[in-house]
Amino acid sequence: MDVSEVEVENILTRTSGFLETVTSHSLQPYRGCSYGNSLCGVGCYVQHSYWVTKGREWGSFLEVRSNAADAYLGQVERERRWARERRGSFSIFMSSATDPFVPQETRYGVTTSLLETMVDEPPDQLILQTHSQRVRNSQNPLARLRERCEVRVHLSIETDRESVDGLPPHASSVEDRFTAAKQLHDSGHQVTITVSPLLPIAEPERFFARIADSATSVIIDHFIEGDGSADGSRTRKTILPEVLAKIEPASVGLDYREEMVRIASRHLPGRVGVSIDGFAGRFQR
Ligand code: SF4
Repeated sequence: MDVSEVEVENILTRTSGFLETVTSHSLQPYRGCSYGNSLCGVGCYVQHSYWVTKGREWGSFLEVRSNAADAYLGQVERERRWARERRGSFSIFMSSATDPFVPQETRYGVTTSLLETMVDEPPDQLILQTHSQRVRNSQNPLARLRERCEVRVHLSIETDRESVDGLPPHASSVEDRFTAAKQLHDSGHQVTITVSPLLPIAEPERFFARIADSATSVIIDHFIEGDGSADGSRTRKTILPEVLAKIEPASVGLDYREEMVRIASRHLPGRVGVSIDGFAGRFQR
C-alpha cells in the first residue's frame, strides 16, 4: 500500500449526479481506500473512476489529505451560503469515494480533526458513511457535533455472512460492525445500516431483526440501480455478479431486493429505504 500525505486546496465538493438528491456536498478525507482489496472493494464503483485512481490499482494507494480541516475552514462559509441558497440546506456526505475510517485514520486523524472542526463550524447535516467498526472511536466528537447539527451514521453491512466464497475477507467483521452500530445506537446516535450492495443473506429474518435492534433505519441497495449506472453495468465488469449467482441465483436480480425489502419492513416498519431514496432519507411507508 502506497501511503502519501498531500495538501489540498478544497475539500468540500458540490454534489452532482446521484448524490445531488442526497446532500449538497461530499467530502473525502482521503483519496483511494485501504479497503480496496477487501470484500467491499471488489464491487466498489470508485475503482472505475480514472479521476480518483489515475490508473493506479484500486486498494494499492492512499493519499492522506493532511490539511483537510484547514481546507474545510477555508471553504465552509462560502459553501454554506451557496448550499442554503441553491440546495435548501448545507449537508455533507463523508465519504462517497473513500472510507473515513481506514486503519491509517488511527495515525493521521484526518476524519477526527474534521469532525472536531465541524463542531465549531457545523453543516446543517452530516452523513458519515463507513464500512468500518472504527467509527465507534469517534463517539465523543460525534456526540458534540450532534448538539450542533443533524448527524446520521451509515454503517454498511451487506450480508450476514462472515465470509463469502470466492471473495476476499470483509474489511471489518459482520459481528464487529453490528457491535459498533448497537453501541452508537444505544448512545443516542442516529444509525442507518446500509445493506449496500445487497449480497445473499443466509438468514434474512434474523438479519433484519438484528438491524432493528441495532439501528434507527436500514437502506437496501442492489447493485442494479445502486452502482451509479442505470443497469448495474459497472458492477457487471467485476466478478461480483458471478460469485453472487453461485451462492443465490436470485440475488443478481431486483426481485431479490424486493423480497428483502418486504422482510425488512416487517422488522422496521416505516424505516426501510430503497436505493438512492434511502440515502436521501426517504423511507417506504
Ligand atoms: S470502504 Fe467504501 S470506498 Fe473503500 S473499497 Fe469499500 S466500498 Fe470502496
